Amino acid sequence: MLERTLVILKPDAVKRQLCGRIISMFEDAGFKIIATKMTIAPKELLERHYPSNNKWYTSVGNKSIDNFKEVGLDIKDVMGTDDPLEIGKTVKKWLVDYMTSGPVLAMVLEGNNAIKNVRKMCGNTIPSNADPSTIRGKFSIDSSDVANAEHRPVHNLIHASGEPDEAKYEISLWFGSENA
Ligand code: ATP
Ligand code: MG
Repeated sequence: MLERTLVILKPDAVKRQLCGRIISMFEDAGFKIIATKMTIAPKELLERHYPSNNKWYTSVGNKSIDNFKEVGLDIKDVMGTDDPLEIGKTVKKWLVDYMTSGPVLAMVLEGNNAIKNVRKMCGNTIPSNADPSTIRGKFSIDSSDVANAEHRPVHNLIHASGEPDEAKYEISLWFGSENA
């Protein structure tokens, strides 16, 4: 099924001059670029881009908790709590600061099952756990335990919409509903 999805090359991808290589991977796979925008995004946009509900906060918090467990560290030593909700809220604050700290390249990609296929190419949220053939695994080895100790989100180069409703919402937010 032909679909559109929102991709954002994050400040680490732009700073490291990886945009061309990442876009090539999508074009090589057959995705068509429908719209692009290089921008220093306002905080208010990122506040609306990332969810503010307990389910999302908890999911983000649990990624840290799992990651700390994997490496045998106590999350309380770094985050002061082991409550996934509180950890998720803290990560969102860092994320909004990070995403507005420099230019990002937002784009709408179109292709067969674009939402699922683009996510597959991005790989696991935590680059250290991402398959080396994916964008996050190929260009980064960052992990939550290291990132959280430095009071920052993981630098994983790319955002991609997770499901159809999210894609529609995010494309409208960044590019207007006529592109969704
Ligand atoms: P994205 O939404 O950016 O495509 P994702 O859906 O894989 O990534 P989310 O759970 O939506 O991941 O988290 C959004 C972003 O927040 C991640 O891409 C990452 O940059 C950051 N992040 C999420 N969880 C953590 C964490 N536990 N520690 C540090 N950073 C995190
Ligand atoms: Mg997400």
